[in-house]
Amino acid sequence: MQTEFSHLNLQDSVTSAVKDAGYTDPTLVQINAIPKILEGFDLLGIAQTGTGKTASYLLPLISKLSTKRSRALMPRALILCPTRELALQISKAFKLYGKNTKLTDLTIIGGTSYKDQERAIAKSPDVIIATPGRLLDHCSKGKLLLSQTKSLIIDEGDRMLDMGFIPDIKQILNLLPSSRQIGLFSATMPTELEVIARQILINPFKIEITPQGSTSQEIEQKIHIIEQVSKKDLFIKKSEHLLLTIRGDSKLKNSIIFCNRKKDVENLAKFLSSRGLENACLHGNLTQILRNTVLDDFSTGKTKHLIASDVASRGLDIPEVSHVFNFDVPINLEDYVHRIGRTGRAGKRGNAITICFDREKPIIEKIENLINKKLDKQYFYQKNQLADKVTFGNSTSHSGTENVEKSEGKLKPMSEKPWVQMNNHIPDFLLKPTTYSKN
Ligand code: AMP
Repeated sequence: MQTEFSHLNLQDSVTSAVKDAGYTDPTLVQINAIPKILEGFDLLGIAQTGTGKTASYLLPLISKLSTKRSRALMPRALILCPTRELALQISKAFKLYGKNTKLTDLTIIGGTSYKDQERAIAKSPDVIIATPGRLLDHCSKGKLLLSQTKSLIIDEGDRMLDMGFIPDIKQILNLLPSSRQIGLFSATMPTELEVIARQILINPFKIEITPQGSTSQEIEQKIHIIEQVSKKDLFIKKSEHLLLTIRGDSKLKNSIIFCNRKKDVENLAKFLSSRGLENACLHGNLTQILRNTVLDDFSTGKTKHLIASDVASRGLDIPEVSHVFNFDVPINLEDYVHRIGRTGRAGKRGNAITICFDREKPIIEKIENLINKKLDKQYFYQKNQLADKVTFGNSTSHSGTENVEKSEGKLKPMSEKPWVQMNNHIPDFLLKPTTYSKN
């Protein structure tokens, strides 16, 4: 028998909000997590974004909180997540699912005013959704007390680990009452996180929705191996290959293009704009307001191509991305799974193309080991005929292919910015034949 939301013991106010959101049936992670959280179990949820994991903890949380007094003096639940964008997204979902209740939430993230946040804390929100650093700032100033916060959700645990947030989380745990319920969600379960999970969760109920390091069957994954060039031309070679691929793909509706470094995000954006491909950048150096605008424009289709650092690789719920490009092979192998997970969501077909050079093949092999799948490799040696030479500042570079020439009419000289000289370096240690642990 198909499980329905009405079978999950949620409050009517919550099930009706879910219905209004257009959800007909609960997802697998929701079927498994909701009853356990309602029963008060600690929970370890291994689930990627796109599985419905946010609702799997928000729905029971809202349901539980709404049955008790609606305004406590201190927050009753805390949701910790690694990035500002994810916090804002969770807050949006909270408002959607909690719209029939009187519950209030507050997002505490960096990049926004302390004073405004302090004023909002003083209004005693029921739920706080926060990134760890800023939350601790308020706690250490005595502006926020967590001694009544009996529910804690840690979202994107693996990302928290990567971003060095674990000491902050441990500090926050010390501020919570000893009798508390914790839900830890993570797309992958590295050993270090497993150790922490053992320390902080008591008798947890474990849900694993996707096998570790798995990638959606809905994503067609390709590796484009392009001809090795001199160090100073690596960036331009990859940029031109990317442009050609984008222009030549009739199925492409929109894309997220991931670079390893913020600098390259900017440089690639400039390159693509100079070739007539409108795009926007997303990386950690942008102000929060700008990051939000960029994400909104991409989500609404105003911007077709988003060039991003790994700030966009996890957790963000951006609907309908037809293509993900890895302009750089990710340095952290698990980021491959997160990056390509931005496409092929909610049962839709997606495409993921990773551009690399021959010398990076050992890293591709490690990715294949991680996802337990051989990837389709296409070679682009000598395939693209080199056309005119264009001068960039004081360096000279080949300007691309016949196709680029035809589609663009003429090639424009580039800006004087020295971006063409910025090459992507894969650290040598990643090229050594080390064994990658799947844990
Ligand atoms: P998440 O994994 O939490 O990032 O959720 C991914 C997307 O699935 C979000 O856009 C949710 O609105 C949507 N979603 C969550 N639960 C359901 C459901 N039961 N039915 C349909 N869509 C859902």
